[in-house]
Amino acid sequence: MYPVHPAPRTAILVPWFHGGLRAQRALRVFPHGWNREAQAFMPGSIAGTIEQLTAIAGSGAPFLTHSVIVLWRPGQVRLSEACRDSLWAAFHVPVFEQVIGKSGELLAAECEAHDGLHVVEPFSRGENDSLDDSLCPCGRKTPRIGVTLGAALERRIASYAR
Ligand SMILES: [Zn+2]
Repeated sequence: MYPVHPAPRTAILVPWFHGGLRAQRALRVFPHGWNREAQAFMPGSIAGTIEQLTAIAGSGAPFLTHSVIVLWRPGQVRLSEACRDSLWAAFHVPVFEQVIGKSGELLAAECEAHDGLHVVEPFSRGENDSLDDSLCPCGRKTPRIGVTLGAALERRIASYAR
C-alpha cells in the first residue's frame, strides 16, 4: 500500500521490508542504506528508519518529488511532531509513517490525511495502541492507530497543503 498513488520511484533503505512494495518496479531496496547507488537511482521518495532519514537530512538531503516514509518495527515509539517538522524542513515533501512486521509485511500505514495509521489485518496491537474506527478524512474506513485531536489535525493539514 502506497500512501499516494501511483507509487513514485522509491528507495527503501532497509533489508527487512519484504512487503508487496518490493514487487513493484518503481521500488528498489538498498540494503546498505543511503549510498551512491541509492542516489543514482534518483528516487522521488525515500523509505527508511528515523535514524537513517535524520542522517540524510543532516548531510544534505537529496531533491525529492513525493515523500519521505518513516519505517517502524512494531512497538517502536512513533514520530514526534518536532521530528516530523524537521524532516519536512529538510526534504520539503510530506512525511508518512509505516509499521513493518517481523516478516517484512506492512502492518499499518499513514494516509494522505495524516491522522493516524490505517492498520492492515492481521494487526497485533502494541500496548498503547487504541484503535479508532471513525471515518478517516481520506475516505477509508479501516481502523487507525495514533489518531490525533482535531486541532492538531488541522494544523498538520495546513502545514502539508501544497
Ligand atoms: Zn486515512
